[in-house]
Amino acid sequence: MPSKFVKVKCNDCENEQVIFAHASTVVKCLVCGRTLAEPTGGKALIKTTVVEVLE
Ligand SMILES: [Zn+2]
Repeated sequence: MPSKFVKVKCNDCENEQVIFAHASTVVKCLVCGRTLAEPTGGKALIKTTVVEVLE
């Protein structure tokens, strides 16, 4: 399975950050603390805007 990262933009503060698409823990915005992604056991559930998928 290829490692995939996605660049997301926080819906609250517009901070952009790169997160692991299969994150196993909750990923929060580094600026405001909003939850950006939640683990599902497989692909993380992205809870904000995806800007770009990085291979
Ligand atoms: Zn934010």
